[in-house]
Amino acid sequence: MNTQVAITRCETYEAETVYAALRLAVDAAPGLDVSGKTVLLKPNIVFDSPPEKAIATHPVFLEAAIRLIKERGAARILVGDSPGLQTPNFTAKLSGLGEVTKRMGAEWVDFTREKADIPCPEGKAQKQFSLTAAVREADCVISLPKLKTHQLMYYTGAMKNLFGLIPSVAKSPMHVRFPSRESFAAMIVDLNVAVKPHYALMDAIIGMEGPGPGSGDPRHIGLVLASPNLLAMDLAASEIVGYPPLEIPVSRDALSRGIWLRSPSEIEYPLLRPDTLRIPDFKKIPLKKSGGQLTEFLLPKPFRKFRERLTPRPEIDRSICRLCGDCTRICGSKAMHIAGEGPEKQVRIDYNTCIRCYCCHEICPVKAIEIRKVSFGKALFGRS
Ligand code: SF4
Ligand code: SF4
Repeated sequence: MNTQVAITRCETYEAETVYAALRLAVDAAPGLDVSGKTVLLKPNIVFDSPPEKAIATHPVFLEAAIRLIKERGAARILVGDSPGLQTPNFTAKLSGLGEVTKRMGAEWVDFTREKADIPCPEGKAQKQFSLTAAVREADCVISLPKLKTHQLMYYTGAMKNLFGLIPSVAKSPMHVRFPSRESFAAMIVDLNVAVKPHYALMDAIIGMEGPGPGSGDPRHIGLVLASPNLLAMDLAASEIVGYPPLEIPVSRDALSRGIWLRSPSEIEYPLLRPDTLRIPDFKKIPLKKSGGQLTEFLLPKPFRKFRERLTPRPEIDRSICRLCGDCTRICGSKAMHIAGEGPEKQVRIDYNTCIRCYCCHEICPVKAIEIRKVSFGKALFGRS
């Protein structure tokens, strides 16, 4: 497989500058072969939000990608994503992605409209996926991620972005089915095996640091990346923001399968190298220390349970919460509900049921949910 990752500078979202940077990167990392094809572009949305919040792939980046793909002779361009709580006829209005799609002559796809079963016989965690039918309709899928931190998976980029191909709330049960970082990562890698994405273009002009992917802060990075190899791109991008790339569960699992790469040393960088671009003060999600599988196995069950209770958990700031109920709807393990009346009305979390998937934190539109460390006393006595 082609192992080239082209990284180039792009300091602003000025349309011609972004287009020129993308074209340079795509020319340097060959493999974007879309002539005569139906192409599905998958930006990252999370929930519909304005571009300045840096939650979604920027509309100018999407515009440049559509322009480039049109010039390379694509027959038809579909664009879509499915936020965790998608409303009917979702058009990505706030993010500007719906408007750009229309203006550029591409087609916005409602991912909830029709689904298709995509088999994955070689899957480690999942043998079949129910995805938007656009995946079957398209000859090739192109991932358009934004470089961000991710509370559960530490980092989100090209491979994790494909999770949005699973329509709307059908994503939540996946967190219940695959509650650990490792099992969830295996499912994401299976998804990439099933979909076989053709190429990725990453918006790392302004990324997100801190508690991403929905509640962090915009961070200027000033780069765009292009590659036909999604794992290679993710290894490069996570290195730039300061993670040891193999500590990212999705990348570690993907590398172990030997499909995209056998070793990170196989990656070629025709333009800039990630080791020259590291951002030392990028605010990352701290990596959880793992005792290793053998230690896990040898620990008595009550100790393992107690350790799980010490895992950082979501806590709600009532002064910010608008009681919209989005978090209660996204919670796949049914650990959240709205209780009480009048001024006492509030969202409550059952921490014995909570699996620490952090979907609620990701989806809250007003950043009312923080992921906080759990004190020894709270874990011991089960206080909330
Ligand atoms: S915590 Fe956030 S998502 Fe949950 S009800 Fe409050 S405002 Fe809505
Ligand atoms: S309360 Fe939040 S973190 Fe816990 S299971 Fe529900 S969505 Fe996940």
